[in-house]
Amino acid sequence: MAGTIVAEKVETPVRAAAPSKSRKASNSFEIAQAQFDKVAEYLGLDRATRELLRYPFREYHFAIPVRMDDGTVHIFRGFRVQHNDARGPGKGGIRFHPQETIDTVRALSMWMTWKCAVVDIPLGGAKGGVICDPHNLSMREQEQICRGWIRQISQNVGPVSDVPAPDVMTNAQHMLWMLDEFEIIHAGRFPGFITGKPVGMGGSQGRTEATGYGLVFTLREALKELNIRPEATTASVQGFGNVARYAIELYQRLGGRVVAVSCWDQIDQCSYTYRKTSGIVLDELLSVADRFGGLDKSKAAGLGYEQLPGEAWIEQEVDILIPAALENQITGENVGRISPKVRVLAEGANGPTTPEADVKIRERNIWLIPDFLANAGGVTCSYFEQVQSNMNYFWEKDEVLGKLDQKMTAAYYAVSDLARREKLYMRDAAYAIAIGRVAKACRDRGWV
Ligand code: NAD
Repeated sequence: MAGTIVAEKVETPVRAAAPSKSRKASNSFEIAQAQFDKVAEYLGLDRATRELLRYPFREYHFAIPVRMDDGTVHIFRGFRVQHNDARGPGKGGIRFHPQETIDTVRALSMWMTWKCAVVDIPLGGAKGGVICDPHNLSMREQEQICRGWIRQISQNVGPVSDVPAPDVMTNAQHMLWMLDEFEIIHAGRFPGFITGKPVGMGGSQGRTEATGYGLVFTLREALKELNIRPEATTASVQGFGNVARYAIELYQRLGGRVVAVSCWDQIDQCSYTYRKTSGIVLDELLSVADRFGGLDKSKAAGLGYEQLPGEAWIEQEVDILIPAALENQITGENVGRISPKVRVLAEGANGPTTPEADVKIRERNIWLIPDFLANAGGVTCSYFEQVQSNMNYFWEKDEVLGKLDQKMTAAYYAVSDLARREKLYMRDAAYAIAIGRVAKACRDRGWV
């Protein structure tokens, strides 16, 4: 194996986690730990379990030297964080991002642990990343980063230990290069090592739709519980990428009407909201969208869409809000702009609501479908991909989506039943189930 793996020893806190009531969390990992602390207190977890779960089990930091197209060598920094694998092999994406930080990767790996546990799939939580900007890299350079990432970590990941997947700015091609490098090193075929592969090369049918559809499966059940007919509802969506598009498609098939979408404009470097009160037409908007999930302003105007400021998506008079773009979008500053009409907040993005805004959402009795439940369809389908790859037998799309619906619906009711029974906020109920399951696995294994 090329290079040296440096496993950073994680510091054990001197005292067990105390709920941080006074201190305002300032980064994603601190937010993830604060959310954990609150529920650990509610569950009455013992000190050792808290110490184990509020930090990653293992993390790897490494250098990836790449000879660039101009002949120079550039050293890229890579990470893999394995938060917890008590319930099964670690699972989580690999992000390529110029502002990637180890704390973001730590937080995301922890959230993966809870996400896999809340939908009750036998996987743990992990996440990886490389500090780089694919916009400025040729395909050959990107391939070298993918192969280099695997060379540095190939002894510490694998089909029975840690199974990576695509994430921000990585795709099926990146996964195939990584799989190929892993198979060269380990001299065999291990399609269950990585997910998000192209269909026909071990990828699963339905993966593209899985996160957006999964969100709508949970939304459909929430509306049933609230006694609201989907046909009588309207929604406003932030984002027009993978998650948003498939969520819009299925929600509109259920009879709902999306009246606004917000997305990022690459040219103006700001976001805009596009509104059509009679209901957006998905195919029409897709015909004027770019590959980054942005829209052509003048063509959208030609199709009758009003153009509003980016944040306007949040103040639309709708029944449902679906943030499906980025983290920290509903904040203490803008939460007051949410219309009194809004009944449901279905979080497609990871961490779209800040802790300050969360308090207000709860006070206003908006029914929340929290991120790691609402957007768990992607990892659930990745799990199906892993199962199919290991069997070397692939299911039809209807079968994949049917199984996805079952998993998401069961997970939704487990959370909402607990929330109603114990009078818990939906986010806390989801955490209580997920953390409870992981803590039990650690105890049953005799770790704590
Ligand atoms: P994507 O890159 O396909 O789309 C992102 C969208 O967000 C684009 O339409 C972009 O224009 C828009 N956007 C970016 N900045 C914006 C801003 N400031 N205001 C308004 N819109 C903005 O990404 P995606 O795969 O759809 O993922 C969206 C979110 O869902 C992310 O938080 C991601 O981590 C999360 N998520 C995705 C998956 C998945 O399977 N794709 C699974 C779980 C969670």
